[in-house]
Amino acid sequence: MQAAMAAVPPLIENAQIADPVRRFLEYVLNKREQGNPVVGVYCGYAPVELIRAMGAVPVSLCSASQWTIPAAEAILPANLCPMIKSSFGFIRTNACFFYAASDAVIGETTCDGKKKMFELIAHLKPTFIMDLPQLPDDTEVLDRWRKSVLKLQGFLEKTLQTSLSADRLEAEIRETNRKNRLMDRFFAYLACRPIPVSWREIYDVITLEHVANGDEFQDLIEKISSSIDQRIALGQCFGTFSSPRILVSGCPVGGDACKVLQIIEEAGGVVVAMEACSGMKNYFVRITEESSDPLRAVAESTLSIPCSCMTPNRRRLDLLDKMIARFSPDAVIDVVLHACHAYNVESHKIRKHVQKKHGLPCLKIETDYSKGDIEQIRTRVEALFENLELKK
Ligand code: SF4
Ligand code: SF4
Repeated sequence: MQAAMAAVPPLIENAQIADPVRRFLEYVLNKREQGNPVVGVYCGYAPVELIRAMGAVPVSLCSASQWTIPAAEAILPANLCPMIKSSFGFIRTNACFFYAASDAVIGETTCDGKKKMFELIAHLKPTFIMDLPQLPDDTEVLDRWRKSVLKLQGFLEKTLQTSLSADRLEAEIRETNRKNRLMDRFFAYLACRPIPVSWREIYDVITLEHVANGDEFQDLIEKISSSIDQRIALGQCFGTFSSPRILVSGCPVGGDACKVLQIIEEAGGVVVAMEACSGMKNYFVRITEESSDPLRAVAESTLSIPCSCMTPNRRRLDLLDKMIARFSPDAVIDVVLHACHAYNVESHKIRKHVQKKHGLPCLKIETDYSKGDIEQIRTRVEALFENLELKK
Protein backbone atom coordinates (compact mmCIF):
# COMPACT_ATOMS: atom_id res chain seq x y z
CA MET A 1 0.00 0.00 0.00
CA GLN A 2 2.88 2.34 0.78
CA ALA A 3 4.20 1.65 -2.73
CA ALA A 4 0.79 2.49 -4.21
CA MET A 5 0.78 5.72 -2.21
CA ALA A 6 4.06 6.72 -3.88
CA ALA A 7 2.03 7.52 -7.01
CA VAL A 8 -0.36 9.74 -5.07
CA PRO A 9 0.26 13.48 -5.30
CA PRO A 10 1.77 14.77 -2.03
CA LEU A 11 -0.68 16.32 0.40
CA ILE A 12 1.53 19.36 0.79
CA GLU A 13 3.93 20.74 -1.82
CA ASN A 14 7.36 19.26 -1.20
CA ALA A 15 8.91 22.72 -1.33
CA GLN A 16 6.69 23.73 1.53
CA ILE A 17 7.69 20.90 3.83
CA ALA A 18 11.18 20.14 2.59
CA ASP A 19 13.36 20.27 5.64
CA PRO A 20 10.84 21.59 8.18
CA VAL A 21 13.60 22.68 10.55
CA ARG A 22 15.17 24.90 7.88
CA ARG A 23 11.76 26.30 6.99
CA PHE A 24 11.02 27.08 10.61
CA LEU A 25 14.44 28.68 11.05
CA GLU A 26 13.95 30.86 7.96
CA TYR A 27 10.62 31.99 9.38
CA VAL A 28 12.22 32.85 12.73
CA LEU A 29 15.16 34.69 11.14
CA ASN A 30 12.81 36.70 8.90
CA LYS A 31 10.79 37.72 11.92
CA ARG A 32 13.99 38.73 13.70
CA GLU A 33 15.04 40.86 10.75
CA GLN A 34 11.67 42.57 10.94
CA GLY A 35 12.52 43.51 14.53
CA ASN A 36 10.55 40.83 16.40
CA PRO A 37 12.33 39.35 19.41
CA VAL A 38 12.47 35.54 19.72
CA VAL A 39 11.56 33.56 22.83
CA GLY A 40 12.65 29.93 23.16
CA VAL A 41 10.25 27.51 24.85
CA TYR A 42 10.56 23.87 25.90
CA CYS A 43 7.08 22.84 26.90
CA GLY A 44 3.35 22.96 26.17
CA TYR A 45 2.76 24.99 29.35
CA ALA A 46 4.50 28.06 27.90
CA PRO A 47 1.74 30.64 27.28
CA VAL A 48 2.53 31.37 23.64
CA GLU A 49 -0.37 33.83 23.21
CA LEU A 50 1.27 36.09 25.79
CA ILE A 51 4.62 35.89 23.98
CA ARG A 52 3.01 36.68 20.60
CA ALA A 53 0.92 39.50 22.07
CA MET A 54 4.19 41.16 23.09
CA GLY A 55 5.36 41.12 19.48
CA ALA A 56 7.76 38.22 20.04
CA VAL A 57 8.01 34.88 18.25
CA PRO A 58 7.81 31.73 20.40
CA VAL A 59 10.03 28.91 19.12
CA SER A 60 10.28 25.32 20.32
CA LEU A 61 13.90 24.60 21.12
CA CYS A 62 15.63 21.48 19.78
CA SER A 63 15.36 18.47 22.04
CA ALA A 64 14.93 15.16 20.23
CA SER A 65 18.19 14.00 18.68
CA GLN A 66 20.50 11.18 19.65
CA TRP A 67 23.34 13.14 18.07
CA THR A 68 23.63 15.65 20.93
CA ILE A 69 23.39 13.14 23.78
CA PRO A 70 27.11 12.18 24.12
CA ALA A 71 27.99 15.86 24.69
CA ALA A 72 25.28 16.09 27.33
CA GLU A 73 26.38 12.92 29.10
CA ALA A 74 29.78 14.47 29.78
CA ILE A 75 27.92 16.46 32.43
CA LEU A 76 24.47 14.96 32.96
CA PRO A 77 23.84 11.44 34.25
CA ALA A 78 23.37 8.83 31.53
CA ASN A 79 20.18 7.53 33.15
CA LEU A 80 18.26 10.74 32.53
CA CYS A 81 15.40 11.33 30.10
CA PRO A 82 16.81 11.58 26.54
CA MET A 83 14.76 14.70 25.88
CA ILE A 84 16.49 16.55 28.70
CA LYS A 85 19.90 15.25 27.67
CA SER A 86 19.32 16.12 24.03
CA SER A 87 18.11 19.66 24.87
CA PHE A 88 21.19 20.24 26.99
CA GLY A 89 23.47 18.66 24.38
CA PHE A 90 22.08 20.99 21.68
CA ILE A 91 23.04 23.97 23.80
CA ARG A 92 26.43 22.57 24.82
CA THR A 93 27.37 21.98 21.20
CA ASN A 94 25.85 25.26 19.95
CA ALA A 95 23.76 23.19 17.56
CA CYS A 96 20.32 24.66 18.33
CA PHE A 97 19.93 27.57 15.89
CA PHE A 98 16.67 28.49 17.59
CA TYR A 99 18.39 28.83 20.93
CA ALA A 100 21.08 30.97 19.29
CA ALA A 101 18.34 33.19 17.81
CA SER A 102 16.43 33.50 21.11
CA ASP A 103 16.50 36.69 23.15
CA ALA A 104 15.03 34.90 26.15
CA VAL A 105 14.13 31.37 27.25
CA ILE A 106 11.17 30.11 29.24
CA GLY A 107 11.20 26.94 31.34
CA GLU A 108 8.64 25.47 33.74
CA THR A 109 8.86 23.42 36.91
CA THR A 110 7.42 20.31 35.26
CA CYS A 111 9.78 17.40 36.03
CA ASP A 112 12.86 17.35 38.25
CA GLY A 113 15.37 16.59 35.50
CA LYS A 114 14.21 19.51 33.38
CA LYS A 115 14.17 21.88 36.35
CA LYS A 116 17.75 21.04 37.25
CA MET A 117 18.88 21.19 33.63
CA PHE A 118 17.49 24.74 33.39
CA GLU A 119 19.80 25.69 36.28
CA LEU A 120 22.76 24.68 34.13
CA ILE A 121 21.78 26.90 31.20
CA ALA A 122 20.10 29.85 32.94
CA HIS A 123 23.31 31.94 32.91
CA LEU A 124 23.61 31.77 29.11
CA LYS A 125 20.46 33.74 28.22
CA PRO A 126 17.83 35.68 30.13
CA THR A 127 15.80 32.73 31.42
CA PHE A 128 12.50 32.68 33.28
CA ILE A 129 11.29 29.58 35.12
CA MET A 130 7.53 29.48 35.58
CA ASP A 131 6.34 27.89 38.80
CA LEU A 132 3.82 25.33 37.57
CA PRO A 133 1.37 24.15 40.23
CA GLN A 134 0.87 20.39 39.87
CA LEU A 135 -2.35 19.68 41.78
CA PRO A 136 -4.87 20.61 39.07
CA ASP A 137 -7.91 19.97 41.29
CA ASP A 138 -6.72 22.34 44.03
CA THR A 139 -9.01 25.37 44.33
CA GLU A 140 -6.14 27.87 44.39
CA VAL A 141 -4.26 26.40 41.49
CA LEU A 142 -5.51 28.78 38.81
CA ASP A 143 -4.75 31.88 40.89
CA ARG A 144 -1.22 30.58 41.47
CA TRP A 145 -0.62 29.83 37.80
CA ARG A 146 -2.07 33.17 36.75
CA LYS A 147 0.49 34.80 39.08
CA SER A 148 3.27 32.88 37.30
CA VAL A 149 1.95 34.07 33.94
CA LEU A 150 1.83 37.64 35.26
CA LYS A 151 5.42 37.34 36.48
CA LEU A 152 6.40 36.08 33.05
CA GLN A 153 4.76 39.16 31.56
CA GLY A 154 6.93 41.36 33.82
CA PHE A 155 10.06 39.43 32.83
CA LEU A 156 9.32 39.73 29.10
CA GLU A 157 8.43 43.41 29.36
CA LYS A 158 11.76 44.10 31.04
CA THR A 159 13.90 41.77 28.92
CA LEU A 160 12.38 42.58 25.55
CA GLN A 161 11.65 46.25 26.32
CA THR A 162 8.07 45.83 25.24
CA SER A 163 4.64 45.94 26.83
CA LEU A 164 1.42 43.97 26.75
CA SER A 165 -1.97 45.33 25.82
CA ALA A 166 -5.14 43.45 26.73
CA ASP A 167 -6.48 44.00 23.17
CA ARG A 168 -3.44 42.40 21.61
CA LEU A 169 -3.69 39.43 23.98
CA GLU A 170 -7.38 39.07 23.14
CA ALA A 171 -6.50 39.07 19.43
CA GLU A 172 -3.91 36.31 19.98
CA ILE A 173 -6.47 34.26 21.94
CA ARG A 174 -8.86 34.48 18.97
CA GLU A 175 -6.02 33.55 16.60
CA THR A 176 -5.12 30.42 18.60
CA ASN A 177 -8.77 29.35 18.79
CA ARG A 178 -9.17 29.88 15.07
CA LYS A 179 -6.08 27.80 14.26
CA ASN A 180 -7.11 25.08 16.70
CA ARG A 181 -10.56 24.86 15.08
CA LEU A 182 -8.91 24.60 11.66
CA MET A 183 -6.61 21.88 12.96
CA ASP A 184 -9.65 20.07 14.27
CA ARG A 185 -11.04 20.06 10.74
CA PHE A 186 -7.89 18.28 9.60
CA PHE A 187 -8.00 15.87 12.54
CA ALA A 188 -11.52 14.85 11.47
CA TYR A 189 -9.94 12.95 8.56
CA LEU A 190 -8.01 10.76 11.00
CA ALA A 191 -11.31 9.18 12.01
CA CYS A 192 -11.73 7.76 8.48
CA ARG A 193 -11.29 4.02 7.97
CA PRO A 194 -9.05 3.48 6.02
CA ILE A 195 -7.10 6.59 6.93
CA PRO A 196 -6.13 8.91 4.05
CA VAL A 197 -2.99 10.44 5.64
CA SER A 198 0.25 9.07 7.07
CA TRP A 199 1.79 9.90 10.46
CA ARG A 200 4.43 11.95 8.65
CA GLU A 201 1.78 14.07 6.98
CA ILE A 202 0.11 14.69 10.35
CA TYR A 203 3.45 15.99 11.64
CA ASP A 204 3.96 18.09 8.48
CA VAL A 205 0.66 19.86 9.07
CA ILE A 206 1.55 20.44 12.73
CA THR A 207 4.95 21.87 11.69
CA LEU A 208 3.32 24.19 9.15
CA GLU A 209 0.88 25.44 11.77
CA HIS A 210 3.83 26.82 13.74
CA VAL A 211 4.89 29.08 10.87
CA ALA A 212 1.47 30.23 9.65
CA ASN A 213 -0.86 32.96 10.79
CA GLY A 214 -4.61 32.31 10.89
CA ASP A 215 -5.23 33.35 7.26
CA GLU A 216 -2.27 31.35 5.94
CA PHE A 217 -3.31 28.31 7.94
CA GLN A 218 -6.88 28.62 6.68
CA ASP A 219 -5.59 28.54 3.07
CA LEU A 220 -3.43 25.54 3.86
CA ILE A 221 -6.25 23.59 5.49
CA GLU A 222 -8.59 24.39 2.55
CA LYS A 223 -6.00 23.01 0.10
CA ILE A 224 -5.21 19.98 2.23
CA SER A 225 -8.90 19.19 2.72
CA SER A 226 -9.60 19.19 -0.98
CA SER A 227 -6.53 16.96 -1.65
CA ILE A 228 -7.68 14.52 1.03
CA ASP A 229 -11.26 14.54 -0.34
CA GLN A 230 -9.78 13.67 -3.71
CA ARG A 231 -7.71 10.84 -2.20
CA ILE A 232 -10.83 9.46 -0.50
CA ALA A 233 -12.84 9.69 -3.73
CA LEU A 234 -10.09 7.79 -5.57
CA GLY A 235 -9.72 5.22 -2.77
CA GLN A 236 -6.12 6.30 -2.10
CA CYS A 237 -5.58 5.51 1.55
CA PHE A 238 -2.88 4.36 3.94
CA GLY A 239 -3.33 0.74 4.86
CA THR A 240 -6.61 -1.06 4.34
CA PHE A 241 -9.96 -1.20 6.08
CA SER A 242 -8.55 -3.81 8.46
CA SER A 243 -5.09 -2.30 9.15
CA PRO A 244 -4.56 -2.00 12.92
CA ARG A 245 -5.44 1.55 13.97
CA ILE A 246 -3.10 2.85 16.66
CA LEU A 247 -3.47 5.68 19.12
CA VAL A 248 0.01 6.71 20.30
CA SER A 249 0.06 8.22 23.78
CA GLY A 250 2.64 9.18 26.38
CA CYS A 251 5.84 11.23 26.26
CA PRO A 252 6.45 13.64 23.38
CA VAL A 253 7.41 11.67 20.26
CA GLY A 254 9.54 13.79 17.94
CA GLY A 255 12.89 13.65 16.15
CA ASP A 256 14.64 10.31 16.66
CA ALA A 257 11.74 8.93 18.74
CA CYS A 258 9.61 8.98 15.56
CA LYS A 259 11.12 5.54 14.92
CA VAL A 260 8.11 4.18 16.87
CA LEU A 261 5.62 5.79 14.44
CA GLN A 262 7.63 4.55 11.48
CA ILE A 263 7.72 0.99 12.85
CA ILE A 264 3.93 1.02 13.33
CA GLU A 265 3.45 1.83 9.63
CA GLU A 266 6.14 -0.60 8.49
CA ALA A 267 4.48 -3.37 10.49
CA GLY A 268 1.24 -2.74 8.62
CA GLY A 269 -0.54 -0.49 11.12
CA VAL A 270 -1.71 3.09 10.83
CA VAL A 271 -1.34 5.92 13.32
CA VAL A 272 -4.79 7.48 13.79
CA ALA A 273 -4.13 9.71 16.79
CA MET A 274 -1.19 11.08 18.75
CA GLU A 275 -2.09 12.11 22.25
CA ALA A 276 1.28 13.59 23.30
CA CYS A 277 1.91 17.31 23.33
CA SER A 278 4.19 16.82 20.30
CA GLY A 279 1.03 15.66 18.53
CA MET A 280 -2.60 16.62 19.05
CA LYS A 281 -3.19 17.33 22.75
CA ASN A 282 -2.61 21.08 22.67
CA TYR A 283 -4.90 21.62 19.67
CA PHE A 284 -7.97 20.45 21.60
CA VAL A 285 -7.62 23.42 23.94
CA ARG A 286 -10.01 26.38 23.57
CA ILE A 287 -9.31 29.68 25.34
CA THR A 288 -12.21 31.71 26.71
CA GLU A 289 -12.73 34.76 24.50
CA GLU A 290 -13.99 38.20 25.56
CA SER A 291 -13.41 37.47 29.24
CA SER A 292 -12.78 40.30 31.70
CA ASP A 293 -9.31 38.84 32.39
CA PRO A 294 -7.58 37.50 29.24
CA LEU A 295 -4.43 36.69 31.22
CA ARG A 296 -6.48 34.36 33.41
CA ALA A 297 -8.09 32.84 30.31
CA VAL A 298 -4.64 32.03 28.90
CA ALA A 299 -3.52 30.64 32.29
CA GLU A 300 -6.64 28.48 32.49
CA SER A 301 -6.16 26.99 29.03
CA THR A 302 -2.49 26.06 29.51
CA LEU A 303 -3.18 24.64 32.95
CA SER A 304 -5.77 22.30 31.44
CA ILE A 305 -3.04 20.37 29.55
CA PRO A 306 -3.07 16.86 31.01
CA CYS A 307 0.66 16.21 31.38
CA SER A 308 1.75 13.41 33.71
CA CYS A 309 3.56 15.94 35.91
CA MET A 310 0.05 16.72 37.25
CA THR A 311 -1.46 14.70 40.09
CA PRO A 312 -4.02 13.34 39.93
CA ASN A 313 -4.05 13.45 36.16
CA ARG A 314 -7.65 12.39 35.59
CA ARG A 315 -7.88 14.77 32.62
CA ARG A 316 -5.51 12.58 30.61
CA LEU A 317 -7.90 9.65 30.99
CA ASP A 318 -10.81 11.90 29.96
CA LEU A 319 -8.82 13.06 26.93
CA LEU A 320 -8.04 9.46 25.97
CA ASP A 321 -11.74 8.58 26.29
CA LYS A 322 -12.62 11.35 23.84
CA MET A 323 -9.83 10.42 21.43
CA ILE A 324 -10.73 6.73 21.50
CA ALA A 325 -14.40 7.55 20.85
CA ARG A 326 -13.48 9.84 17.97
CA PHE A 327 -10.64 8.00 16.21
CA SER A 328 -11.65 4.36 16.91
CA PRO A 329 -8.19 2.86 17.52
CA ASP A 330 -7.76 -0.92 17.80
CA ALA A 331 -4.94 -0.50 20.33
CA VAL A 332 -3.01 2.10 22.30
CA ILE A 333 0.79 2.27 22.25
CA ASP A 334 2.06 4.21 25.25
CA VAL A 335 5.53 5.60 24.56
CA VAL A 336 7.68 6.26 27.61
CA LEU A 337 11.08 7.86 27.26
CA HIS A 338 13.75 6.22 29.42
CA ALA A 339 13.86 7.63 32.94
CA CYS A 340 10.65 9.61 32.57
CA HIS A 341 9.23 8.47 35.88
CA ALA A 342 5.99 10.42 35.65
CA TYR A 343 4.85 8.92 32.33
CA ASN A 344 6.30 5.53 33.27
CA VAL A 345 4.37 5.21 36.52
CA GLU A 346 1.22 6.63 34.92
CA SER A 347 1.47 4.05 32.14
CA HIS A 348 0.04 1.38 34.47
CA LYS A 349 -3.09 3.49 35.01
CA ILE A 350 -3.39 4.18 31.29
CA ARG A 351 -3.20 0.49 30.44
CA LYS A 352 -5.78 -0.49 33.04
CA HIS A 353 -8.09 2.30 31.89
CA VAL A 354 -8.00 1.55 28.16
CA GLN A 355 -8.33 -2.19 28.79
CA LYS A 356 -11.17 -1.96 31.29
CA LYS A 357 -13.18 0.91 29.88
CA HIS A 358 -12.56 0.41 26.16
CA GLY A 359 -11.53 -3.24 25.89
CA LEU A 360 -8.40 -2.23 23.98
CA PRO A 361 -4.90 -3.67 24.34
CA CYS A 362 -2.23 -1.23 25.48
CA LEU A 363 1.45 -1.78 24.73
CA LYS A 364 4.02 0.20 26.70
CA ILE A 365 7.22 0.94 24.81
CA GLU A 366 10.12 2.34 26.79
CA THR A 367 12.68 3.82 24.50
CA ASP A 368 15.16 6.62 23.87
CA TYR A 369 16.56 8.29 20.75
CA SER A 370 19.05 5.56 19.83
CA LYS A 371 18.60 3.05 17.03
CA GLY A 372 19.64 0.07 19.18
CA ASP A 373 16.10 -1.08 20.09
CA ILE A 374 14.44 -0.70 16.69
CA GLU A 375 14.21 -4.44 15.99
CA GLN A 376 13.02 -5.18 19.52
CA ILE A 377 10.25 -2.57 19.17
CA ARG A 378 9.35 -3.98 15.77
CA THR A 379 8.97 -7.49 17.23
CA ARG A 380 6.67 -6.24 19.99
CA VAL A 381 4.54 -4.15 17.61
CA GLU A 382 4.24 -7.09 15.19
CA ALA A 383 3.20 -9.36 18.07
CA LEU A 384 0.53 -6.82 19.06
CA PHE A 385 -0.80 -6.76 15.51
CA GLU A 386 -0.82 -10.58 15.32
CA ASN A 387 -2.87 -10.72 18.53
CA LEU A 388 -5.31 -8.17 17.13
CA GLU A 389 -5.62 -10.30 14.00
CA LEU A 390 -6.29 -13.46 16.08
CA LYS A 391 -9.07 -11.71 17.99
CA LYS A 392 -10.98 -10.79 14.82
S1 SF4 B 1 5.04 16.16 28.29
FE1 SF4 B 1 4.54 17.64 29.88
S2 SF4 B 1 6.52 18.44 30.56
FE2 SF4 B 1 6.85 17.42 28.59
S3 SF4 B 1 6.67 19.05 27.06
FE3 SF4 B 1 4.62 18.12 27.27
S4 SF4 B 1 3.54 19.36 28.79
FE4 SF4 B 1 5.74 19.83 28.95
S1 SF4 C 1 9.58 13.20 28.85
FE1 SF4 C 1 9.26 13.09 31.08
S2 SF4 C 1 11.31 13.23 32.01
FE2 SF4 C 1 11.45 13.89 29.85
S3 SF4 C 1 11.25 16.12 29.94
FE3 SF4 C 1 9.18 15.28 29.56
S4 SF4 C 1 8.26 15.00 31.60
FE4 SF4 C 1 10.48 15.31 31.88
